[in-house]
Amino acid sequence: MSELAPYAVTAANSRGRAHPDEVPTHRSEFQRDRDRIVHSTAFRRLEYKTQVFVNHEGDLFRTRLTHSIEVAQIARSVARALHLNEDLVEAISLAHDLGHTPFGHAGQDALNACMRAHGGFEHNLQSLRIVDLLEERYAAFNGLNLCFETREGIIKHCSLENARQLGELGERFLTRTQPSLEAQICNFADEIAYNNHDVDDGLRSGLITLEQLGEVRLFACYAAIARETYAGISGRRLVHETIRRMINVLVCDLIETTAGNIARCRPKELADIRRGEALVGFSDDLREAQREMKRFLHTHLYQNFQVLRMTSKAQRIISELFAAFLNDPRLLPPDYQADDDQARRVADYVAGMTDRYAMKEHRRLFAVGEI
Ligand code: MG
Repeated sequence: MSELAPYAVTAANSRGRAHPDEVPTHRSEFQRDRDRIVHSTAFRRLEYKTQVFVNHEGDLFRTRLTHSIEVAQIARSVARALHLNEDLVEAISLAHDLGHTPFGHAGQDALNACMRAHGGFEHNLQSLRIVDLLEERYAAFNGLNLCFETREGIIKHCSLENARQLGELGERFLTRTQPSLEAQICNFADEIAYNNHDVDDGLRSGLITLEQLGEVRLFACYAAIARETYAGISGRRLVHETIRRMINVLVCDLIETTAGNIARCRPKELADIRRGEALVGFSDDLREAQREMKRFLHTHLYQNFQVLRMTSKAQRIISELFAAFLNDPRLLPPDYQADDDQARRVADYVAGMTDRYAMKEHRRLFAVGEI
Protein backbone atom coordinates (compact mmCIF):
# COMPACT_ATOMS: atom_id res chain seq x y z
CA MET A 1 0.00 0.00 0.00
CA SER A 2 1.29 3.44 -0.89
CA GLU A 3 1.75 5.94 1.90
CA LEU A 4 -1.58 6.96 3.38
CA ALA A 5 -2.92 10.50 3.54
CA PRO A 6 -2.92 11.98 7.08
CA TYR A 7 -6.75 11.90 7.11
CA ALA A 8 -7.00 8.22 6.08
CA VAL A 9 -8.22 5.69 8.63
CA THR A 10 -5.35 3.72 10.16
CA ALA A 11 -4.90 1.31 13.04
CA ALA A 12 -3.44 4.26 14.97
CA ASN A 13 -6.50 6.53 14.71
CA SER A 14 -9.06 3.69 14.75
CA ARG A 15 -11.60 3.54 17.56
CA GLY A 16 -10.78 -0.15 17.72
CA ARG A 17 -12.79 -3.26 18.53
CA ALA A 18 -15.42 -3.92 21.21
CA HIS A 19 -13.34 -6.85 22.49
CA PRO A 20 -9.61 -6.13 22.66
CA ASP A 21 -7.67 -8.44 20.33
CA GLU A 22 -3.96 -9.13 19.93
CA VAL A 23 -2.24 -6.99 17.28
CA PRO A 24 -2.00 -9.12 14.10
CA THR A 25 1.52 -10.15 13.08
CA HIS A 26 1.55 -10.14 9.30
CA ARG A 27 -1.50 -8.14 8.30
CA SER A 28 -3.21 -4.87 9.12
CA GLU A 29 -6.23 -4.58 11.42
CA PHE A 30 -8.42 -3.92 8.39
CA GLN A 31 -7.04 -6.86 6.43
CA ARG A 32 -8.05 -8.88 9.44
CA ASP A 33 -11.58 -7.46 9.25
CA ARG A 34 -11.78 -8.31 5.56
CA ASP A 35 -10.56 -11.85 6.27
CA ARG A 36 -13.15 -12.32 9.00
CA ILE A 37 -15.87 -11.21 6.60
CA VAL A 38 -14.69 -13.52 3.81
CA HIS A 39 -14.70 -16.48 6.20
CA SER A 40 -18.17 -15.73 7.58
CA THR A 41 -21.25 -17.84 6.86
CA ALA A 42 -23.26 -14.80 5.76
CA PHE A 43 -20.64 -14.03 3.09
CA ARG A 44 -20.99 -17.47 1.50
CA ARG A 45 -24.77 -17.04 1.37
CA LEU A 46 -24.35 -13.98 -0.88
CA GLU A 47 -23.63 -16.36 -3.75
CA TYR A 48 -27.23 -17.51 -3.77
CA LYS A 49 -28.97 -14.21 -3.17
CA THR A 50 -30.61 -12.09 -5.83
CA GLN A 51 -29.29 -8.77 -6.96
CA VAL A 52 -32.01 -8.05 -9.55
CA PHE A 53 -32.44 -11.45 -11.15
CA VAL A 54 -33.25 -14.47 -9.04
CA ASN A 55 -30.32 -16.82 -8.83
CA HIS A 56 -31.83 -19.69 -10.80
CA GLU A 57 -32.89 -17.43 -13.72
CA GLY A 58 -29.44 -17.69 -15.28
CA ASP A 59 -25.88 -18.52 -14.32
CA LEU A 60 -24.38 -15.32 -15.71
CA PHE A 61 -26.38 -12.72 -13.84
CA ARG A 62 -24.86 -10.88 -10.89
CA THR A 63 -25.55 -12.22 -7.45
CA ARG A 64 -24.98 -10.34 -4.21
CA LEU A 65 -21.57 -12.01 -4.08
CA THR A 66 -20.31 -10.94 -7.49
CA HIS A 67 -21.85 -7.49 -6.92
CA SER A 68 -19.92 -7.14 -3.65
CA ILE A 69 -16.67 -8.18 -5.36
CA GLU A 70 -17.23 -5.56 -8.08
CA VAL A 71 -17.91 -2.90 -5.43
CA ALA A 72 -14.67 -3.87 -3.67
CA GLN A 73 -12.70 -3.63 -6.92
CA ILE A 74 -13.99 -0.13 -7.68
CA ALA A 75 -13.62 1.08 -4.09
CA ARG A 76 -10.03 -0.17 -3.91
CA SER A 77 -9.05 1.65 -7.11
CA VAL A 78 -10.50 4.89 -5.79
CA ALA A 79 -8.99 4.48 -2.31
CA ARG A 80 -5.55 3.69 -3.71
CA ALA A 81 -5.57 6.70 -6.03
CA LEU A 82 -6.52 8.98 -3.12
CA HIS A 83 -4.01 7.44 -0.68
CA LEU A 84 -6.78 6.12 1.55
CA ASN A 85 -7.06 2.80 3.33
CA GLU A 86 -7.59 0.14 0.67
CA ASP A 87 -7.99 -2.69 3.16
CA LEU A 88 -10.77 -0.84 4.93
CA VAL A 89 -12.75 -0.11 1.75
CA GLU A 90 -12.38 -3.75 0.76
CA ALA A 91 -13.71 -4.91 4.12
CA ILE A 92 -16.67 -2.51 4.00
CA SER A 93 -17.49 -3.39 0.38
CA LEU A 94 -17.48 -7.12 1.01
CA ALA A 95 -19.71 -6.69 4.08
CA HIS A 96 -22.06 -3.99 2.82
CA ASP A 97 -24.79 -6.34 1.56
CA LEU A 98 -24.51 -9.16 4.11
CA GLY A 99 -27.88 -8.28 5.64
CA HIS A 100 -29.88 -8.51 2.46
CA THR A 101 -32.87 -10.82 2.45
CA PRO A 102 -33.47 -13.33 -0.32
CA PHE A 103 -35.04 -11.85 -3.50
CA GLY A 104 -33.36 -8.46 -3.35
CA HIS A 105 -35.27 -5.30 -2.50
CA ALA A 106 -38.62 -7.03 -2.88
CA GLY A 107 -37.64 -9.38 -0.06
CA GLN A 108 -36.49 -6.53 2.16
CA ASP A 109 -39.70 -4.54 1.58
CA ALA A 110 -41.80 -7.59 2.38
CA LEU A 111 -39.87 -8.37 5.55
CA ASN A 112 -40.00 -4.74 6.61
CA ALA A 113 -43.79 -4.81 6.22
CA CYS A 114 -43.97 -8.01 8.31
CA MET A 115 -41.82 -6.41 11.01
CA ARG A 116 -43.72 -3.09 11.10
CA ALA A 117 -45.15 -3.74 14.55
CA HIS A 118 -41.82 -5.17 15.78
CA GLY A 119 -39.31 -2.40 15.01
CA GLY A 120 -39.10 -2.85 11.22
CA PHE A 121 -36.42 -4.47 9.08
CA GLU A 122 -33.61 -2.66 7.30
CA HIS A 123 -30.83 -4.45 5.43
CA ASN A 124 -28.09 -2.03 6.57
CA LEU A 125 -28.93 -2.65 10.19
CA GLN A 126 -29.19 -6.36 9.52
CA SER A 127 -25.65 -6.36 8.03
CA LEU A 128 -24.45 -4.78 11.26
CA ARG A 129 -26.46 -7.26 13.34
CA ILE A 130 -24.75 -10.10 11.46
CA VAL A 131 -21.20 -8.87 12.04
CA ASP A 132 -21.93 -7.72 15.62
CA LEU A 133 -24.14 -10.52 16.86
CA LEU A 134 -25.28 -13.33 14.60
CA GLU A 135 -22.04 -14.85 13.31
CA GLU A 136 -20.94 -17.59 15.69
CA ARG A 137 -17.20 -17.98 15.20
CA TYR A 138 -15.56 -17.07 18.48
CA ALA A 139 -15.76 -18.71 21.88
CA ALA A 140 -15.56 -15.48 23.85
CA PHE A 141 -18.04 -13.24 22.04
CA ASN A 142 -20.81 -13.04 19.45
CA GLY A 143 -20.16 -11.70 15.98
CA LEU A 144 -16.88 -10.90 14.25
CA ASN A 145 -15.58 -8.16 16.56
CA LEU A 146 -14.78 -5.81 13.67
CA CYS A 147 -13.18 -2.39 14.01
CA PHE A 148 -15.44 0.62 14.56
CA GLU A 149 -14.60 2.06 11.12
CA THR A 150 -15.61 -1.12 9.29
CA ARG A 151 -18.92 -1.22 11.19
CA GLU A 152 -19.44 2.49 10.55
CA GLY A 153 -19.01 1.91 6.81
CA ILE A 154 -21.66 -0.80 6.81
CA ILE A 155 -24.32 1.64 8.05
CA LYS A 156 -24.86 3.66 4.92
CA HIS A 157 -28.19 5.16 5.93
CA CYS A 158 -30.30 4.91 9.00
CA SER A 159 -33.48 6.48 10.40
CA LEU A 160 -33.05 8.84 13.36
CA GLU A 161 -35.08 6.45 15.49
CA ASN A 162 -32.70 3.59 14.72
CA ALA A 163 -29.67 5.86 15.06
CA ARG A 164 -30.63 6.59 18.67
CA GLN A 165 -30.37 2.89 19.42
CA LEU A 166 -26.97 2.45 17.79
CA GLY A 167 -24.94 4.35 20.40
CA GLU A 168 -21.57 5.56 19.16
CA LEU A 169 -22.27 4.24 15.68
CA GLY A 170 -25.53 6.17 15.34
CA GLU A 171 -24.09 9.51 16.47
CA ARG A 172 -23.19 10.80 13.04
CA PHE A 173 -26.81 10.58 11.86
CA LEU A 174 -27.93 12.62 14.87
CA THR A 175 -25.12 15.20 14.69
CA ARG A 176 -25.09 15.23 10.86
CA THR A 177 -21.36 14.60 10.70
CA GLN A 178 -19.57 12.45 8.10
CA PRO A 179 -18.18 8.94 8.17
CA SER A 180 -14.58 8.33 7.01
CA LEU A 181 -13.69 9.00 3.37
CA GLU A 182 -13.29 5.23 3.03
CA ALA A 183 -16.95 4.71 4.01
CA GLN A 184 -18.07 7.47 1.65
CA ILE A 185 -16.14 5.86 -1.22
CA CYS A 186 -17.91 2.52 -0.72
CA ASN A 187 -21.33 4.16 -1.17
CA PHE A 188 -20.28 5.58 -4.52
CA ALA A 189 -18.55 2.37 -5.58
CA ASP A 190 -21.81 0.52 -4.83
CA GLU A 191 -23.71 2.89 -7.10
CA ILE A 192 -21.17 2.68 -9.95
CA ALA A 193 -21.17 -1.12 -9.73
CA TYR A 194 -24.92 -1.69 -9.75
CA ASN A 195 -25.79 0.89 -12.40
CA ASN A 196 -23.31 -0.66 -14.78
CA HIS A 197 -23.88 -4.32 -14.07
CA ASP A 198 -27.64 -3.85 -14.19
CA VAL A 199 -27.23 -2.45 -17.71
CA ASP A 200 -25.19 -5.54 -18.60
CA ASP A 201 -27.60 -8.00 -16.94
CA GLY A 202 -30.62 -6.13 -18.29
CA LEU A 203 -29.31 -6.43 -21.85
CA ARG A 204 -28.37 -10.07 -21.34
CA SER A 205 -31.87 -10.84 -20.10
CA GLY A 206 -33.42 -9.11 -23.11
CA LEU A 207 -35.60 -6.96 -20.82
CA ILE A 208 -33.89 -3.81 -22.08
CA THR A 209 -32.37 -3.18 -25.51
CA LEU A 210 -29.44 -1.29 -27.01
CA GLU A 211 -31.92 0.92 -28.87
CA GLN A 212 -33.59 1.97 -25.61
CA LEU A 213 -30.20 2.63 -24.01
CA GLY A 214 -29.40 4.92 -26.92
CA GLU A 215 -31.69 7.44 -25.18
CA VAL A 216 -29.42 7.52 -22.13
CA ARG A 217 -26.72 10.17 -22.56
CA LEU A 218 -23.86 8.31 -20.84
CA PHE A 219 -24.48 5.05 -22.68
CA ALA A 220 -25.03 6.75 -26.05
CA CYS A 221 -21.79 8.72 -25.71
CA TYR A 222 -19.57 5.71 -24.98
CA ALA A 223 -21.34 3.36 -27.41
CA ALA A 224 -20.60 5.96 -30.11
CA ILE A 225 -16.91 6.06 -29.13
CA ALA A 226 -16.73 2.25 -29.17
CA ARG A 227 -18.34 2.19 -32.63
CA GLU A 228 -15.94 4.83 -33.91
CA THR A 229 -12.95 2.95 -32.52
CA TYR A 230 -13.99 -0.46 -33.83
CA ALA A 231 -15.90 -0.32 -37.11
CA GLY A 232 -18.69 -2.91 -37.27
CA ILE A 233 -18.59 -3.75 -33.56
CA SER A 234 -21.87 -5.19 -32.23
CA GLY A 235 -23.44 -7.54 -29.68
CA ARG A 236 -21.62 -8.47 -26.47
CA ARG A 237 -18.37 -6.77 -27.48
CA LEU A 238 -20.15 -3.47 -28.08
CA VAL A 239 -21.89 -3.76 -24.72
CA HIS A 240 -18.64 -4.47 -22.87
CA GLU A 241 -16.61 -1.83 -24.72
CA THR A 242 -19.32 0.67 -23.73
CA ILE A 243 -19.73 -0.42 -20.11
CA ARG A 244 -16.01 -0.49 -19.38
CA ARG A 245 -15.74 3.07 -20.65
CA MET A 246 -18.69 4.15 -18.49
CA ILE A 247 -17.16 2.57 -15.38
CA ASN A 248 -13.82 4.17 -16.17
CA VAL A 249 -15.21 7.69 -16.64
CA LEU A 250 -17.25 7.42 -13.43
CA VAL A 251 -14.30 6.13 -11.42
CA CYS A 252 -11.95 8.80 -12.82
CA ASP A 253 -14.49 11.55 -12.21
CA LEU A 254 -15.05 10.34 -8.65
CA ILE A 255 -11.29 10.35 -7.97
CA GLU A 256 -10.69 13.76 -9.56
CA THR A 257 -13.72 15.50 -8.05
CA THR A 258 -12.93 14.09 -4.61
CA ALA A 259 -9.25 15.07 -4.91
CA GLY A 260 -10.42 18.61 -5.81
CA ASN A 261 -12.75 18.72 -2.78
CA ILE A 262 -9.93 17.54 -0.53
CA ALA A 263 -7.57 20.18 -1.93
CA ARG A 264 -10.20 22.87 -1.33
CA CYS A 265 -11.07 21.84 2.24
CA ARG A 266 -7.55 20.82 3.30
CA PRO A 267 -8.38 18.27 5.98
CA LYS A 268 -5.39 17.58 8.22
CA GLU A 269 -6.60 14.57 10.12
CA LEU A 270 -9.46 12.09 10.33
CA ALA A 271 -11.37 14.33 12.75
CA ASP A 272 -11.53 17.05 10.05
CA ILE A 273 -13.17 14.57 7.68
CA ARG A 274 -15.85 13.77 10.23
CA ARG A 275 -16.54 17.42 11.09
CA GLY A 276 -16.61 18.81 7.56
CA GLU A 277 -18.84 18.43 4.52
CA ALA A 278 -19.00 15.16 2.55
CA LEU A 279 -15.93 15.25 0.31
CA VAL A 280 -16.42 12.19 -1.87
CA GLY A 281 -18.57 12.84 -4.91
CA PHE A 282 -19.01 13.21 -8.66
CA SER A 283 -18.86 16.39 -10.70
CA ASP A 284 -22.29 17.95 -11.39
CA ASP A 285 -22.23 16.63 -14.94
CA LEU A 286 -21.54 13.01 -14.03
CA ARG A 287 -23.95 13.13 -11.09
CA GLU A 288 -26.72 14.12 -13.48
CA ALA A 289 -25.64 11.43 -15.97
CA GLN A 290 -25.80 8.81 -13.21
CA ARG A 291 -29.26 10.00 -12.20
CA GLU A 292 -30.47 9.70 -15.76
CA MET A 293 -29.15 6.12 -15.93
CA LYS A 294 -30.86 5.28 -12.63
CA ARG A 295 -34.18 6.66 -13.85
CA PHE A 296 -33.84 4.61 -17.02
CA LEU A 297 -33.13 1.40 -15.11
CA HIS A 298 -35.98 2.07 -12.74
CA THR A 299 -38.52 2.52 -15.52
CA HIS A 300 -37.32 -0.09 -17.95
CA LEU A 301 -35.75 -2.79 -15.81
CA TYR A 302 -36.84 -2.73 -12.17
CA GLN A 303 -40.45 -1.98 -13.18
CA ASN A 304 -40.47 -4.45 -16.08
CA PHE A 305 -43.48 -6.78 -15.80
CA GLN A 306 -41.33 -9.89 -15.74
CA VAL A 307 -39.23 -8.50 -12.87
CA LEU A 308 -42.41 -7.38 -11.08
CA ARG A 309 -43.88 -10.87 -11.36
CA MET A 310 -40.85 -12.25 -9.55
CA THR A 311 -41.11 -9.40 -7.06
CA SER A 312 -44.69 -10.20 -6.20
CA LYS A 313 -43.93 -13.91 -5.86
CA ALA A 314 -40.97 -13.07 -3.61
CA GLN A 315 -43.12 -10.88 -1.40
CA ARG A 316 -45.64 -13.68 -1.01
CA ILE A 317 -42.97 -16.23 -0.10
CA ILE A 318 -41.37 -13.93 2.50
CA SER A 319 -44.60 -12.83 4.14
CA GLU A 320 -46.04 -16.34 4.27
CA LEU A 321 -42.85 -17.75 5.76
CA PHE A 322 -42.76 -14.96 8.34
CA ALA A 323 -46.40 -15.41 9.34
CA ALA A 324 -46.12 -19.20 9.60
CA PHE A 325 -43.03 -19.05 11.85
CA LEU A 326 -44.36 -16.27 14.06
CA ASN A 327 -47.70 -18.05 14.49
CA ASP A 328 -46.02 -21.23 15.54
CA PRO A 329 -42.36 -20.78 16.51
CA ARG A 330 -42.09 -24.54 17.06
CA LEU A 331 -41.72 -24.79 13.26
CA LEU A 332 -38.40 -22.92 13.54
CA PRO A 333 -35.01 -24.59 14.04
CA PRO A 334 -34.42 -24.62 17.84
CA ASP A 335 -31.69 -21.94 17.64
CA TYR A 336 -34.26 -19.45 16.42
CA GLN A 337 -36.91 -20.18 19.04
CA ALA A 338 -36.71 -17.33 21.54
CA ASP A 339 -38.19 -16.39 24.90
CA ASP A 340 -38.48 -12.77 23.95
CA ASP A 341 -38.59 -10.80 20.70
CA GLN A 342 -39.53 -13.86 18.70
CA ALA A 343 -40.39 -11.67 15.69
CA ARG A 344 -36.77 -10.45 15.45
CA ARG A 345 -35.50 -14.03 15.51
CA VAL A 346 -37.96 -14.99 12.76
CA ALA A 347 -36.66 -12.02 10.75
CA ASP A 348 -33.07 -13.18 11.33
CA TYR A 349 -33.97 -16.64 10.08
CA VAL A 350 -35.90 -15.46 7.02
CA ALA A 351 -33.36 -12.74 6.13
CA GLY A 352 -30.52 -15.25 6.31
CA MET A 353 -32.10 -17.53 3.72
CA THR A 354 -30.76 -17.75 0.19
CA ASP A 355 -33.31 -17.47 -2.64
CA ARG A 356 -33.46 -21.18 -3.23
CA TYR A 357 -33.57 -22.04 0.47
CA ALA A 358 -36.53 -19.67 0.96
CA MET A 359 -38.37 -21.35 -1.92
CA LYS A 360 -37.60 -24.77 -0.48
CA GLU A 361 -38.74 -23.81 3.02
CA HIS A 362 -41.91 -22.35 1.52
CA ARG A 363 -42.63 -25.61 -0.29
CA ARG A 364 -41.87 -27.61 2.85
CA LEU A 365 -44.36 -25.57 4.86
CA PHE A 366 -47.10 -25.03 2.33
CA ALA A 367 -47.03 -27.63 -0.47
CA VAL A 368 -49.17 -30.65 0.14
CA GLY A 369 -47.11 -33.76 -0.48
CA GLU A 370 -43.75 -32.12 0.41
CA ILE A 371 -41.92 -32.80 3.63
MG1 MG B 1 -24.77 -3.07 -2.83
